[in-house]
Amino acid sequence: MSSSEDVLKSLVSHAKEYGFVFPSSEIYDGLSATYDYGPYGVDLKNNIKAYWWKAMVQIHTNLVGLDSAIFMHPTTWKASGHVDAFNDPLIDNKDSKKRYRADVLIEEHIEKLRLKIEKELEKAAQRFGDSFDPEMYLKTNPRVLGYAEEMDQVRAGMKSALEEGNLEALRNLIVELGVVCPLSGSKNWTEVRQFNLMFATELGSVSGEASTIYLRPETAQGSYVNFLNVQKSARMKIPFGIAQIGKAFRNEIIARQFIFRMREFEQMEMQFFVRPGTEMEWFEYWKAFRIKWHAALGLGDSNYRFHDHIKLAHYANAATDIEFNFPMGFKELEGIHSRTDFDLKAHETFSGRKQQYFDPELQESYIPYVVETAIGLDRMFLAILSASFKEEQLEDGSMRTVLAIPRWLAPVKLAILPLVKKDGLPELAMRIFNDLRLDFTCQYDEKDAIGKRYRRQDAIGTPFCITIDHQSLEDGMATLRDRDSMTQERIDISELNSRLHERLDMSRLLQTLTD
Ligand code: ATP
Repeated sequence: MSSSEDVLKSLVSHAKEYGFVFPSSEIYDGLSATYDYGPYGVDLKNNIKAYWWKAMVQIHTNLVGLDSAIFMHPTTWKASGHVDAFNDPLIDNKDSKKRYRADVLIEEHIEKLRLKIEKELEKAAQRFGDSFDPEMYLKTNPRVLGYAEEMDQVRAGMKSALEEGNLEALRNLIVELGVVCPLSGSKNWTEVRQFNLMFATELGSVSGEASTIYLRPETAQGSYVNFLNVQKSARMKIPFGIAQIGKAFRNEIIARQFIFRMREFEQMEMQFFVRPGTEMEWFEYWKAFRIKWHAALGLGDSNYRFHDHIKLAHYANAATDIEFNFPMGFKELEGIHSRTDFDLKAHETFSGRKQQYFDPELQESYIPYVVETAIGLDRMFLAILSASFKEEQLEDGSMRTVLAIPRWLAPVKLAILPLVKKDGLPELAMRIFNDLRLDFTCQYDEKDAIGKRYRRQDAIGTPFCITIDHQSLEDGMATLRDRDSMTQERIDISELNSRLHERLDMSRLLQTLTD
């Protein structure tokens, strides 16, 4: 088993053991690609949502919120193109009977070539030492150039096959590249077929075409059909945006890799309405702002990269992904799309109602263009969990498992721990707990030795522990232990509240986004 699979496996079992994520309906052996969030998971999720919402809606005076229904009029999905075009090309391996997305198999092949180039670079760097010039090497080394050329060719082949909807060409590419099924190791592939990802159900008791409704595959359409309601009621002027957090549903073909690809998941999406012709400026603005939002959490800048789309969706004129270095490698975490006026125009046509904005400065009406930022809450959760999960050897040789979750997002912020369960220490600790829990999510714990209690808090990612000892009764000081450095400092109990606000308040994090 590869080490990345090991990491993911440890993460899944840690998430379950410590109450972050459970397989859904586990007593019935679970349901594939659906998960339940446990006591700490729900708090982490809520804190991520709060960070997104505040950074988007609270900081930006030109953004407002919306919470639209999951069910929408079925014509919505005709207009948006999802009924006809929200398909994935799927292919089966005849030996393992496993189903894959044809485009994903090809992307993985391209990624393998990229890794080969990286390996060549590493080897050359070792060979040439200080005098090594990586840029020159990339431009001149024949082996590297060969891989790069192959990557370009494969990319171009996939792009044209996808754009033409040429499923045979897609299959031929897989065969030509010699792609093997990771399970059976065979190249025995079926034809490629299109598969619609929307879940359909029936409204009320009537069955038939007219009453077929869909579980929304994205939250964005709720913002489009409410564009004028929001603009008028909140008196918004273009450019302005609508932000929304909510569930979305997709009947994913490959639903593996834990909460990375689920059939029921949550999205945090923002639709920004702009004057036609200004969309590329705003596309750049939102790219820069969104990567800043990620970087501020301190999970490591090298864990992110932009990846421009090879094939643009039917509605887009520019699109990029923010990819994150998950245990399975770099994969999409967030999409930033310039969606043109495709959706509003389609809704105008299908509904027969004007979807136009009167621009007082230009003295004319137009259908705005849209720039969208769309991030999966569950993927963000996985990004945080995987970058935070560490197994460390301590000075005394023992091991600790720690979740170094960015402190503003940690589900439990503080643990208040009396050193022993007697001599009035629990009473003082409880008084501190009762004071601090009004401001922070706290735990009080007096069971087991102090070292064991620290380990328990490390495992759920609690950034600070406050320990009360006999000395505290005399000098009114407590020990504040930092999760990451494990340093301890004595702090006046009366100052705890303000000192903790300095370190834990989300406003400090938001401040860095406005600099
Ligand atoms: P992918 O290419 O991975 O299928 P996508 O490009 O179809 O994703 P978008 O339609 O751009 O995804 O959706 C916006 C965001 O929603 C994605 O960046 C991702 O974080 C999240 N998302 C999409 N599908 C899923 C899923 N099945 N499970 C969890 N999150 C998802």
